[in-house]
Amino acid sequence: MADPQGKRLVVVGNGMAALRTVEELLALKADGFQITILGEEPHGGYNRILLSLLLSGEREQSAIITHDHGWYQKHGITLKAGVAATAIDRVNRTVTDAHGEVHPYDTLLLATGSHAIVLPVPGHKLPGVVTFRDMKDVQTMLEATKAGGHAVVIGGGLLGLEAAMGLLKQGMQVTVVHLLDLLMERQLDRVAADLLKEELLARGVAFYMPAQTEAILGEEKVTAIRFKDGTVLPTTLVVMAVGVRPNVDLARTAGLQCGRGVVVNDHLETSDPAILAVGECVQHREVTYGLVAPLYEQGKVIARRLAGLADAGSYTGSATSTRLKVTGIDLFSAGDFLGDGRAKPSPSWTPAAGSTKNW
Ligand SMILES: Cc1cc2nc3c(=O)[nH]c(=O)nc-3n(C[C@H](O)[C@H](O)[C@H](O)COP(=O)(O)OP(=O)(O)OC[C@H]3O[C@@H](n4cnc5c(N)ncnc54)[C@H](O)[C@@H]3O)c2cc1C
Repeated sequence: MADPQGKRLVVVGNGMAALRTVEELLALKADGFQITILGEEPHGGYNRILLSLLLSGEREQSAIITHDHGWYQKHGITLKAGVAATAIDRVNRTVTDAHGEVHPYDTLLLATGSHAIVLPVPGHKLPGVVTFRDMKDVQTMLEATKAGGHAVVIGGGLLGLEAAMGLLKQGMQVTVVHLLDLLMERQLDRVAADLLKEELLARGVAFYMPAQTEAILGEEKVTAIRFKDGTVLPTTLVVMAVGVRPNVDLARTAGLQCGRGVVVNDHLETSDPAILAVGECVQHREVTYGLVAPLYEQGKVIARRLAGLADAGSYTGSATSTRLKVTGIDLFSAGDFLGDGRAKPSPSWTPAAGSTKNW
């Protein structure tokens, strides 16, 4: 277990999981921690969920910042923004960053989140091809909308549809391309998926599905996209919203046990008990998550353990729910909607879990 007396806490990642955990620790008024946070993105903390509303123009950038630099200062936290952690020395308990600076820790918290998956099709590196994961992606998309034209969003899941509606609101024509003939197939059954598609069609989104992308075309930038059936759609922007993969790069290099994510036990300890992990990078009881509700629950357990509370509790997994953030379409999905005769309501589930109002 992480040494509860060990007070040098180094956090890798400055995303929602990292900050929620630190907030929980501060709320417990646990004295004496020296906290250093290394964040690859060059900002303070922001609400990643609200990137959809930043893209659609329903929120300003300043309105999605949750932790400005003053917050870190106020709490005596050292933030290294725009600085990636590059190596962990588990024997000497240090983290080295991209500037070569060495940060000793008693407890290390990995909160490295996920990578957006990029389809490795020809042309995927062309300017005009973007994922939908961070502030930089949204800035790139907003820049592209200035010239108008046609955008193709690959992926008919939650993120793809939110990207499509955002781009539409910014004046682009948008086509959503999906591998299956069913939108949000992980959350919706056929009836609900068809209803949703009708709503989106009525708002002006076009669909090309089922379709498999074969290549992105263009010389210096994207000009079109080609599918396996030979169809070519002209486009100036391709958004890939095809899923995420837990970011285990640092953990794996450091020799920590990793599967799809960084493997943790019910105390959120990795295979090295001085190193904890939280959020989307985590694999707990074979499960990885792509939503915020689990990280809120994990953060609470970690903070209580770090604060040395006798009844710190443990993390046993989360039930999740999803809400589509498209104004005027009230879509909410929870639980195992297909069921298998064994499905039961989870005692830990509440409708508020995962809501954007939670932060
Ligand atoms: C557009 C969008 C909409 C979403 N909507 C919803 C929603 O409605 N409901 C919901 O529940 N969830 C939603 N999500 C998912 C939710 O945002 C994530 O589950 C949550 O942000 C995960 O938090 P995290 O801290 O684990 O990872 P992240 O937020 O990805 O943070 C990880 C951070 O670590 C940094 N990092 C990685 N490696 C290093 C390193 N070596 N050194 C330093 N820093 C590093 C990364 O740059 C990143 O800033 C949405 C996500 C997106 C992109």
